[in-house]
Parts: sequence; C-alpha cells; structure tokens
Amino acid sequence: MIAQHTKQLVELLLPAQCLVCALKSNNKLICHYCEKKILTPRSYCLHCALPLNKNADYCGDCLKKAYLFNHIHALGDYKKPLSQLIKQLKYQQQLVAGELLAYLLIKSVVSRYTKQQLSAFDYLLAVPLHPKKLQLRGFNQAQIICDRLSEQLNIPLLENCITRNKETIAQEGLSIKKRKMNLSNAFSYQKNSGQEIIGKSILVIDDVVTTGATINSLCKLLKDKEANMIIVFCISRTAIDKEIQS
Ligand SMILES: [Zn+2]
Ligand SMILES: [Zn+2]
Repeated sequence: MIAQHTKQLVELLLPAQCLVCALKSNNKLICHYCEKKILTPRSYCLHCALPLNKNADYCGDCLKKAYLFNHIHALGDYKKPLSQLIKQLKYQQQLVAGELLAYLLIKSVVSRYTKQQLSAFDYLLAVPLHPKKLQLRGFNQAQIICDRLSEQLNIPLLENCITRNKETIAQEGLSIKKRKMNLSNAFSYQKNSGQEIIGKSILVIDDVVTTGATINSLCKLLKDKEANMIIVFCISRTAIDKEIQS
C-alpha cells in the first residue's frame, strides 16, 4: 500500500509529457521519437560545428578565423526545439529544460567520443557569466549543463578560477584594433583558486555559440595560462546572432 502510494507520488513529480511535443512520454523528459530526431546526425564543420549543406568537412569561416580551441562539438543547430528549450531555461527559469538539454548533450557526446578520449580531459569549465547578469538571472545556464556533464562523465569542474570582466560584443564590423580590445581582458584568472591550468586539457561548456568571439576570448586566457587541449561542447551552434543573448 505504502509502496503503491510512493510510486504514485514519484509519477506525479515526473513530467507525464514530452517537453518537446507534449505527447505521453512514460514519465521521461522527452519521448523516444523526439529524442531520436534531435540526436540524428547532421552535417557540420568538423572544426567549429557550423551547419554545412554541402559535402565538405570544414566551413569557409574556419579558413579565415584564428580560433584557439581544438574544435567545437554542438548538439544541434539553433532552431526549434533546441532554441525553444534554451529560451525556456534562460528566460523562463525552467530548470527542467536545462536537465533535458544536458541529457541530450551527454548522449551526443558519448556517441562521438570514446571513454578514453573523454578521460583525457582534466576539467570541465562553464563559460562564466558577468556577475551582474548572474545576479539578475540567478543562475548560469551553462553551469547547470556543465554540472550534469561533470556528474555523468566523471570529470571535475574548474571552479572559481575564471571570472568574467565584461561582455564581449560581436567582432564583425569592428576595426582590427577594436577587435583586439574586445577580446582582451574579457575574462580573468584567479591566482588563489588552488586549481592549476598549465598542461591541463579542458572541456568548455556553453549554451549557444554564435560568432565564437566569447569562446575565443576565454580560450585565449586558457592558452595564455598554458592549457593543453581545449574542446568546446555547446547545445547550439549558429552563425546568426539575432535575438540571442548570453
Ligand atoms: Zn516528444
Ligand atoms: Zn568551421
């Protein structure tokens, strides 16, 4: 009798519907059909993860831009349902959407990388938010996803080591001098954090990567501190930065 009640209580707490299509999902966050659709492999640039239409390995951007990460892995493009789930997490404080995004990102990561490749990483680092933005939102959406990855992949977090000084703005349209200023000092390293970056391989986690300017600026600091390999995991990768705010 008690067990029966407990089971009913647990079922009440779990969503009865898929967060994407609202159909019954057997008390899972997503139904089998939507999960399969999101995880279907797409064509993307092997270096920066931009969507590609043709049969090429790399996009035109990667030939021109000097990215400092080894490569980006994205769960998908910035379009529905991923864009919707990201907005629900960031602007409507629906943390359950973050749980689902983390679950899907982990599934796509373990389908691309072997256990051995993942175990080569020393730290997971969520792209820090500016303290003012963190205070306004109450949480860092990238950190929520990063925490789940840390638990599931058994990789420690790089915490309290990097802070954000300012928001980076899109690089396009800026002069070379302004581009350099925009990228410099966007993040700082805290000497007394007790965590060492020299020679470490780091997985950087972000929700949406658009121009790559913010990620590159963070990578510059990590490289200045002699980090070894840097791979970026993000939910969505897109060249369009309209209506997307960190
Ligand atoms: Zn569904
Ligand atoms: Zn590319």
